[in-house]
Amino acid sequence: MTHPTARPALIDGFGRAVTYLRVSVTDRCDLRCVYCMAEKMVFLPKAEVLTLEELDRISSAFIGLGVRKLRLTGGEPLVRKGFMSLVENLSRHLASKALDELTLTTNGTQLAVFAADLARLGVKRINVSMDTLKPDLFRTLTRGGDIGKVIAGIEAAQAAGIAVKINAVALARDNAAEIPELIQWAHGRGLDMTLIETMPLGEVEADRTDQFLSLEQVRRELSSYWTLTDLPLNTGGPARYVRVEETGGRLGLITPLSHNFCEACNRVRLTCTGTLHTCLGREDASDLRAVLRAGASDEDLVDAIRHAVDAKPQGHDFHIGRGEAPATRRHMSTTGG
Ligand code: SAM
Ligand code: SF4
Repeated sequence: MTHPTARPALIDGFGRAVTYLRVSVTDRCDLRCVYCMAEKMVFLPKAEVLTLEELDRISSAFIGLGVRKLRLTGGEPLVRKGFMSLVENLSRHLASKALDELTLTTNGTQLAVFAADLARLGVKRINVSMDTLKPDLFRTLTRGGDIGKVIAGIEAAQAAGIAVKINAVALARDNAAEIPELIQWAHGRGLDMTLIETMPLGEVEADRTDQFLSLEQVRRELSSYWTLTDLPLNTGGPARYVRVEETGGRLGLITPLSHNFCEACNRVRLTCTGTLHTCLGREDASDLRAVLRAGASDEDLVDAIRHAVDAKPQGHDFHIGRGEAPATRRHMSTTGG
């Protein structure tokens, strides 16, 4: 039976229910991954970034409209001052069972500090991005990062009882040969692993065309020595999952460029400036910060969200042709991965 005060769920113009919100809490980061950021990034002035209260208010409005899964991301979420108080406030929706899952995507550098608190607040799974195990290559790819800190963070999260999934961007030149080793490393520690194709988002110095590695090709290569069994798991996103029989672990393949996954898309993204993007690969945008800062009532906010979701595009159209402009001008660190 429907609760008498329950509102109709968020359904877009193509009949897809929006149940998953990703929120970027900052555009800042302690790393500068070559495919994600320019070396000298200009970060947003503080006034443009949503306050922790604004982030909570918008997220909570979405949860009131039927969003069941919330992923906090960035930039690097753990570098945002007061981030843990946001997690603490949002965890009330886990306690009330309005939310099934509160999770985050992190580069892991600060995880050793925060893992125990995250676990205490109800975070059960997190994604940690790590493209290589080689200290020198990690330092180069992240422009200065220390892989030791990330591994310590992963271990702290596991010790706190949080399930960790490793995300690695597949890079033709830099980590292609290391991919099997990364998978074995992750599966050997009981971690799921997901490979991501590079996406043409935002201007960076590196030429991502050269680095593009099709995961179809990776899958073919892995299949020449491992048995990959398709798993029926569908998260409403671009990932497809297989089990590697030899390692016993799960491998996700995110192929935004090789496959069209838009028909079942259940997600929208909020940037740290309060812009709602209903499609990762398009420039569509609704300014929820303007709505909030104009003194919106909860009703006004809900109307603005419904209006934006109603116009969610049917799908995206990424290309990664040589010399082509990025599909969108915004960086992944702004939109939130
Ligand atoms: N800083 C956190 C981290 O690195 O996990 C969260 C934000 S980061 C933007 C989220 C994910 O986006 C990371 O897994 C990163 O590797 C991925 N990413 C960034 N730029 C990308 C690009 N151009 N193509 C594909 N994935 C990208
Ligand atoms: Fe920072 Fe994550 Fe982007 Fe790397 S991928 S620069 S860690 S936001």
